[in-house]
Amino acid sequence: MQDVTSAASVSAGRGREPGPAPVPAAAPGDLLRQLRQRHATDPVTHVERVPSRAGTPAPWPGWAPEELRTAYARRGVSAPWRHQAEAAELAHDRRHVVVATGTASGKSLAYHLPALATLLADARATVLYLAPTKALAADQLRAVAELEIEGVRPACYDGDTPRAEREWIRRHSRFVLTNPDMLHHGILPGHAQWSGFLRRLRYVVIDECHVYRGVFGSHVSHVLRRLRRQCARYGNTAGPTFVLASATSGDPAATAGRLVGLPVTAVTEDTSPRAGVTFALWEPPLLPAAEPPASSPSASAPAPRRDPDLPRSGVAPPDPTLDAEVADLTQVRRSALRETADLLADSVAAGVRTLAFVRSRRGAEVVATSARRSLDEAVPGLGDRVAAYRGGYLREERRALERALLHGDLLGLASTNALELGVDLVGLDAVLICGYPGTRASLWQQAGRAGRSGQEALAVLVARDDPLDTYLVHHPEALFGTPVEATVLDPANPYVLGPQLACAAAEAPLTVADLELFGDSAKETVEALVEAGALRQRPTGWYWRHRERPEVDLRGEGGAPVCVVEAATGRLLGTVDGGSSHFLLHPGAVYLHQGVSYVVDSLDLADGCALVHPEEPDWSTHARDVTSLSVVSVRSYVDAGPVGLFLGEVDVTSQVVSYQRRRIATGEVIDTRPLDLPTRELRTVAVWFTLSPESLTSAGVDPADVPGALHAAEHAAIGLLPLLATCDRWDIGGLSTAVHPDTEAPTVFVYDGHPGGAGFAERAYGTAAAWLKATRDAIDECGCETGCPSCVQSPKCGNGNNPLSKPGAVRVLDVVLNNLPR
Ligand SMILES: [Zn+2]
Ligand SMILES: [Zn+2]
Repeated sequence: MQDVTSAASVSAGRGREPGPAPVPAAAPGDLLRQLRQRHATDPVTHVERVPSRAGTPAPWPGWAPEELRTAYARRGVSAPWRHQAEAAELAHDRRHVVVATGTASGKSLAYHLPALATLLADARATVLYLAPTKALAADQLRAVAELEIEGVRPACYDGDTPRAEREWIRRHSRFVLTNPDMLHHGILPGHAQWSGFLRRLRYVVIDECHVYRGVFGSHVSHVLRRLRRQCARYGNTAGPTFVLASATSGDPAATAGRLVGLPVTAVTEDTSPRAGVTFALWEPPLLPAAEPPASSPSASAPAPRRDPDLPRSGVAPPDPTLDAEVADLTQVRRSALRETADLLADSVAAGVRTLAFVRSRRGAEVVATSARRSLDEAVPGLGDRVAAYRGGYLREERRALERALLHGDLLGLASTNALELGVDLVGLDAVLICGYPGTRASLWQQAGRAGRSGQEALAVLVARDDPLDTYLVHHPEALFGTPVEATVLDPANPYVLGPQLACAAAEAPLTVADLELFGDSAKETVEALVEAGALRQRPTGWYWRHRERPEVDLRGEGGAPVCVVEAATGRLLGTVDGGSSHFLLHPGAVYLHQGVSYVVDSLDLADGCALVHPEEPDWSTHARDVTSLSVVSVRSYVDAGPVGLFLGEVDVTSQVVSYQRRRIATGEVIDTRPLDLPTRELRTVAVWFTLSPESLTSAGVDPADVPGALHAAEHAAIGLLPLLATCDRWDIGGLSTAVHPDTEAPTVFVYDGHPGGAGFAERAYGTAAAWLKATRDAIDECGCETGCPSCVQSPKCGNGNNPLSKPGAVRVLDVVLNNLPR
């Protein structure tokens, strides 16, 4: 081991002069061999060698002007890769196209090429570029500006653009970069000022289009329809050509087509070069059997028959990596955090430059601190070469960090996903991913951080105790094979369509011809708006009746968000959407904000404000609720003998009635305190299955076990849905019961946690066999005895994970799968 000096100051942002050169890294295979010797049983469930790939270049398309080729040559690009040329060719042909290839495969050239060639060929043509964030638009602006193409005058137009510049941009820029929110709030309402731009609009580029999912995606799909409508109104009869860039996903053409409302061709074969990587899937070992913690529910709370597992409307849990430590889940496996910390320490000790991705800030700190401690125990001072990176640093601080890693002052870094944006790291040898980051795109983005030129790198996915992670480490084909996870959105959601039609009518009266653009249910929705007094029907169309424009937030959830305010200082800590506020911000709730703990003093629902004070009690709080669900209508169903599968509308009524305080260390219940909060209603879309009681009996499920079996199946099914639809388990709710009044049978419901639905339940219905098979396998393949957070326990269970029957759940799902047509 070499002598090392302190690099701890780097994490505080002060750069240092280059230190000692790093030890030559071990080959990925050697490092992996070393790492997996850590436990008596091999934690590695699969090793995938992803070979390096040479790029496949293609000639520049004949129409690509010399000026553009020269500009690219100046930037070191001598020819496009084949997929770039293919997509550019389609777009140039005025075909709508989506490029769905890997991270860093050069998607921007695929849209810059046709867009800029058109701007050069037609001195009046314009291009609109949409990014989900301002930061990405600013990056793209730099990229376009650096090409120095005359007469294009690229400019960002967003909330930060000074008033004085706006008019200039509207008149003179031919390449406007913005985001969907600005298009919705600024450009479309002010369409008259943009008439020239819209009339000559040739291309609309939609970058990172996989971000437009769920309710947000459904809103954006209508904003794009409103854009097409305004283009047509100003005489742009051909309409703009849409070029979309997406992360790899299942069925990108269909998703992109749904988003823009037009047929879209997909280009999916990635022909860019790539470094080789050895990818290991790692399942932390089971802990030696111990006495279960004393967390038995209080006698006053008998196990209810129904189980509500309410969604939290898209809000992530405060600190997902610490689920097992804060919820009363029986910890059965070694925690992913601890495992990652050990792997980081081992890699650093081997002289390997390693980056560990952890989902929360606090988790990143736990990993870094714990790795530092064990390194210092081995070699005093070695721990200084590990740091935590929490995002939010200044530009110079980030640069100092990059330098420290490049020079080897720093060998190990634990980071939240903040690193995906903003820091340019090269020359890393290994990446540790603590918990599946939610989508394949993020997984590869993180894994792609490893690998210096010409050298193989190592990536390790450490499974968290979550059914999806369990499934993935046992089913490598889901990570390395054809993608099955699709981005879903639902333009027909009436809670999105209504407000969007109101916006469209406020921009210009709606005509019968317009309605077609907005889908089959537009007519019906417009009539409802007339009924509600929002629109007035005249012979020439439907008119918005009010002076003010409709207030529609693309990212909103219906209910206004609740502000979290520190009482002593008046500082706004953040917002929580209305739907989650009852759970997270009830009086007495422990609320985590960026790793800091607060306790809620009061929740004022009328004012949309919760007052909190900083406090770190040694207990956590867990809201309990009472939920009922009634079926409103059935949209579609499959009759499979003893099993029925349904998709339809449901009304979910829930009320948070109490909360438990539990000791963090032991999970022991301190007390249960009542709450006085109003009930809430949610009309949404659900998928559900029913089974006949006889089929359960003959499958060996004891009648007494039916509630627990259904409940366990429901938890795991919610956990596995993100495998097929890009959503978070927090976007979905569930309810299971041994007899439901509307189905008169044992039933498991899984519903979208958004008013009107977001497409998740619909996707689950459409892929039910694959979804429930994966659910069954995740439960069955978990090595625990009676159920654990890696299979059937849920961190957001409103019933304290009681009752649950792991073997029963497998039997329930077997009955469903044996009867459901494939
Ligand atoms: Zn388990
Ligand atoms: Zn539950």
